Amino acid sequence: MAATQTIDALHGTLKSYLNADQANQVKRAYFFAEQAHYGQRRRSGEPYVTHPLAVAGILADMHMDHQSLMAAMLHDVIEDTGIEKAAIGEQFGPTVAELVDGVSKLTLMEFDTLEEKQAENFQKMALAMARDIRVILVKLADRLHNMRTLGVLSNDKARRIARETLDIYAPIAMRLGMNNVRMEFEDLGFGALYPMRSRRIETAIRAARGNRKELVENMRQQIQETLEQEGHQVQVRGREKHLYSIYQKMKVKHKSFAEIMDIYAFRIIVDSVDTCYRVLGCVHSMYKPVPGSFKDYIAIPKANGYQSLHTVMMGMHGVPIEIQIRTQAMEDMANNGIAAHWLYKSDEHTTNGSHTRARDWVQGLLEMQQQAGNSLEFIDSVKMDLFPDEIYVFTPKGRILELPRRATAVDFAYAVHTDVGNACVACRINRRLAPLSQPLESGQTVEILTSSGARPNPAWLDYAVTAKARSNIHHFLKRQTREDSVSLGRSLLDKALASHGQELDDLSDVKLAEFLAAQHYDSMEDLLIDIARGNRLPAFTAQQLAAPESVEDEALSAHSGEAQPVAIKGTEGFMLSYAKCCHPIPGDPILGYLSSEKGVVVHRDQCKNLREHAERLVALRWDDEVQGDYPVNLRIEVENRRGMIAVIATRINSMGVNIEKISTEHKDHQFTYVTLEMMVQNRVHLARIMRRLRSITHVLKVTRIKN
Ligand code: MN
Repeated sequence: MAATQTIDALHGTLKSYLNADQANQVKRAYFFAEQAHYGQRRRSGEPYVTHPLAVAGILADMHMDHQSLMAAMLHDVIEDTGIEKAAIGEQFGPTVAELVDGVSKLTLMEFDTLEEKQAENFQKMALAMARDIRVILVKLADRLHNMRTLGVLSNDKARRIARETLDIYAPIAMRLGMNNVRMEFEDLGFGALYPMRSRRIETAIRAARGNRKELVENMRQQIQETLEQEGHQVQVRGREKHLYSIYQKMKVKHKSFAEIMDIYAFRIIVDSVDTCYRVLGCVHSMYKPVPGSFKDYIAIPKANGYQSLHTVMMGMHGVPIEIQIRTQAMEDMANNGIAAHWLYKSDEHTTNGSHTRARDWVQGLLEMQQQAGNSLEFIDSVKMDLFPDEIYVFTPKGRILELPRRATAVDFAYAVHTDVGNACVACRINRRLAPLSQPLESGQTVEILTSSGARPNPAWLDYAVTAKARSNIHHFLKRQTREDSVSLGRSLLDKALASHGQELDDLSDVKLAEFLAAQHYDSMEDLLIDIARGNRLPAFTAQQLAAPESVEDEALSAHSGEAQPVAIKGTEGFMLSYAKCCHPIPGDPILGYLSSEKGVVVHRDQCKNLREHAERLVALRWDDEVQGDYPVNLRIEVENRRGMIAVIATRINSMGVNIEKISTEHKDHQFTYVTLEMMVQNRVHLARIMRRLRSITHVLKVTRIKN
């Protein structure tokens, strides 16, 4: 497992399984990295490029494809040398550039603030961030080399990296079935975190091994020779548990070191599946099998695709002998998991997408599972890991939230808290302001900006995807609409009552209750909502409510003239809207029309669309404190000259006014009509703008479009 020392040595390995062109491309990536990292050194003093070379070497030992190896060579180039992704893309193609970029992003992820319960989310996040599973494989190899060379780092940093390796990277390796990598992560991580314990166990293992060395070797040879005499091509190996698993067994299962070690373990690698069973028969005739200990994981593979025959026999002095029998392919799959999949498919076209490979791997496991008919749990988790339907994003404090794919900052805000969602006005994604509608991606940090007066926007429903966000927005809008309706209905009715010299508050409860009952209303609010929605005319209702007074009063009210107009403040909300036909602005005389769908629609009083609705009109006026910007349409007649529209637009913008729409229409060879929609505050504001426009040379006429 020694890291490859030189590019020439690596090239030798590559030629054994890649074609000449692919091997040369890897070499070219090496020289690119060497130049990019020129002058940089590792903590150990070696030139920096030895690191990417070693990372590529690790992947070459797993027989990974040439693009993974190129990405390994270049994996620190973006981060450490300032060379851009695009430059890598030009040199080595978009796939390699994507891989390098993916590894860089993973490297940038901060695991510092890691709480233990979050570790699993971090693992999922790392997998979700890598659209190409090879990104993970390169990252694992990178981490493996860093772990192997951890000794030169300061204690604190080494411990932090070791912790992260045990919490994040070892479990990821396990999820992907890469047991060799996982075990090395665990032993190196254990050694860095608990140097004393690890050294003590190591010493104990060495002592135990020394005591039994001869005995084990004799047994190994005896098995090997016996099997060869029977005509089997086999390799018999002694097998030892790795440090960290011994430690875990002692800690979790409270077993003594002696108990764990007091066993002889061998692995027999054979040439075919058939041979596995023949060899099993042979060893069973050499030692007495322990009843019930035989396991056929070839016919019934383990959930992660592991295949092998297991048996336990009784050796001398009653010490058990554990034997595993498997083919080389099974051995590779047990050691390298998903990476072994590249090995066995390396003859095929490497253009085969990485995710297709990953899918194949999962598919393969799935088929074995179905034959075996046991739990699908592992498969489900692997499938979810590789093709997640979720994204994982950070809160500013480092908490991880899981959201469905295509979720936006609005979903995020509601996931944090309903109040945050309701008061949300803007967001920062990775510290930059971003639209609320932008779909989030795994690994991003999202911050929600809130404002106390803010309310949910109906437009959010276009892009909020979570049930929580959507139901909260709906709920708020419904409630808001109701509140708006009630208050609008109240003010309409109050104004109408005023023309009878009365106020709503003056009416006695008894009288109101009688009236509501007679008109079949459950509550006063329902009546007010009906008025606001235009289902009842306020003047008529006021008359009914005021009518049963004395005759004189009635006579008085009949002659009191026009109803008091309702004042419009521009902040009424959902139950008031402005007509698109005549575009009323503050200062214009206005009239309202009660629509059952839209509440009160404000028109200019001369608008001809009002004529059809004479019986549903309501008197309105602008409040002195009216707020907001209102759309208005202008028609400008100009001479046909180059650049006229730009002159007009610049003049308008210079007054701080926004143009919403602009269109032109050729009148004849001499004149053009320019139609503009812009936002103004009121008539005075509009008049000022029109004056400025008229002062432009070659502008003949400026008129407000009346419809
Ligand atoms: Mn690196």
